[in-house]
Amino acid sequence: MFKTYLRLLGFAKPISRYAVPYFFFAALHAIFNTATYALIIPILNTMFDKGFAFVPTYTPPQIAFNNEALTQWLNYLYTSLFGTEFSMTRILGLLSVIVVCANVMSNLFRYLSAYTVECLRTRSLQRMRNEMFDNVIGMNVGFFSEQRKGDIISKITSDVGTVQFCITNTLQVAFREPFLIIGYLVLMLKVSWELALFAVLFLPIVGVIIGGIVKRLRHPASRSQQRIGDMVSVLDESLGGIKIIKTYTAAEYIKEKFHAINAEISELMLWMARRQQLASPMSEFLGISAVGVILCFGGSLVTKGSLSAAGFIAFIAAFSQITRPVRSFIDQFANINQGVAAGERIFSIIDAKSEIQDAPSARTFEGFKHKVEFRNICFSYDGEREILHNISFDIAKGETVALVGPSGGGKSTLSELMPRFYDPQQGDILFDGVSIKEFSQESLRKYMSLVSQDTVLFNDTIESNIALGKEGATHEEIVAAAKVANAHNFIMEAPEGYQTNIGDRGSKLSGGQRQRLSIARAVLKNPEFLILDEATSALDTESEKLVQEALTSLLQGRTSVVIAHRLSTIHNANKILVIDGGRIAEQGTHEELMALGGIYAKLIEMQSVA
Ligand code: ATP
Repeated sequence: MFKTYLRLLGFAKPISRYAVPYFFFAALHAIFNTATYALIIPILNTMFDKGFAFVPTYTPPQIAFNNEALTQWLNYLYTSLFGTEFSMTRILGLLSVIVVCANVMSNLFRYLSAYTVECLRTRSLQRMRNEMFDNVIGMNVGFFSEQRKGDIISKITSDVGTVQFCITNTLQVAFREPFLIIGYLVLMLKVSWELALFAVLFLPIVGVIIGGIVKRLRHPASRSQQRIGDMVSVLDESLGGIKIIKTYTAAEYIKEKFHAINAEISELMLWMARRQQLASPMSEFLGISAVGVILCFGGSLVTKGSLSAAGFIAFIAAFSQITRPVRSFIDQFANINQGVAAGERIFSIIDAKSEIQDAPSARTFEGFKHKVEFRNICFSYDGEREILHNISFDIAKGETVALVGPSGGGKSTLSELMPRFYDPQQGDILFDGVSIKEFSQESLRKYMSLVSQDTVLFNDTIESNIALGKEGATHEEIVAAAKVANAHNFIMEAPEGYQTNIGDRGSKLSGGQRQRLSIARAVLKNPEFLILDEATSALDTESEKLVQEALTSLLQGRTSVVIAHRLSTIHNANKILVIDGGRIAEQGTHEELMALGGIYAKLIEMQSVA
């Protein structure tokens, strides 16, 4: 637990930049704050005419923390300001001004220390989120089907917030409160060591009682964070699928799901709040009980004459103040538990290692000359159910291979092995005889484009969405790519042309328009190797024709693997592979496969009838 906490603190690099000024401000705050209470003694003594004898002096006395020094300083200040003639009103006025000044200073330093902590909080929060996000983006694709999206989102948003809140609070407590506790203790000891000893013995008892109350908060804290992750997942799915929810009148189903998670979160929160909130009233009750006992004990000391009335009142004031920092010290136990629970979730993201790593000696892929080979590929997502069985085939440079076959056969899976979204358990993919594992993933993907059924567009302008295809693309290049992809005309008709925002995931565009934008992106990238998952969703004839033309231009002269649904694409392919149940069931040209009269011939027949 302590290790996690220290690691979390490490995000506030360089810690000295914040810690040094913080330490300084916190100490000054404590000094001025204690001074405010220490000044009660001369005020009371003056009012009740006890102990404060006015002796005019123009020489500044020594600096010391005791009654005589305080009295001498008052005499010196008074004489310098008002001369040698004494007046009660003036001395009380002077004391009040000093108290107010000390308080102003104390609060000024409190503000500065709080601000320093805020800087530390904001900077480390920023660093933590960036590190988490960067690591998530670098993870292999498989990670995302195991880790729920909502859980990742809630870790980056809510858990980071919890951690930061806890860290800064505990820091404030760890650095500021001890100063205050020491200051008040010194003051109390100065007034009466017997009473102070009593108080000091009492404080740890409060600590143990409250500590017991807030212990064991860690498990429910981490459980509630997990459930928040689930809630974000449901939110994400519901908002993303709002049309489906409405058409299937599934609102009740999704509402129930959301309400159930929400109810569980509330229960957990309430349970934690009950324990946490009990800490404050309990410690206040214990504190006041102690004040009661001190009143009796101290009162007897006053009657015996071994303690001045003014000193006693100042003691009570200081004691009532000391319980506050001691209390927040204890309250932070609860916070640390919660923070560490969230911290562990954060580190599960930061420490996650991508299952697909570049080899240490990975080379830069610089294209290929002859062919791509798939050699005896076997693949399973979960290590149990094999999806692809011993698949082998070649693609010569410049050729198009079409993958066809029944749904669930493994076509998409096969196409995702090329950009190394997954690695096969057995077999290999080779470019001119060299395994793709010997190249760095980044360089490999630079030469590939993936145009998939579900177009991936971002909430940004049309231009930025196309520009993703090529770093530093000029406007002219973007327009040229859009023209090849048959997208230029509709873009020009959009309200702000290339600068039009397309909404979340391109929601302001039609299906065909979205596809043409993603084709334009691929055209701009000008990849040597293209993986195309043709859309099955029906577009109207006009739109279909435009998309088809765009695809034909994109495929021209490129090596490509196409998951083909359209007859025209299949016709034009150099080779057709029929994938059924994870195996190559048939292969050849359109004519050869038709002549065979097998699965392919049946598929084509069905399509023609449709
Ligand atoms: P379609 O033509 O319907 O798109 P397909 O031939 O492309 O189908 P794949 O998407 O490759 O088929 O799926 C092959 C098998 O792998 C299916 O049985 C599917 O359930 C399984 N599968 C796909 N993705 C995953 C995944 N991320 N985790 C586990 N299993 C998966």
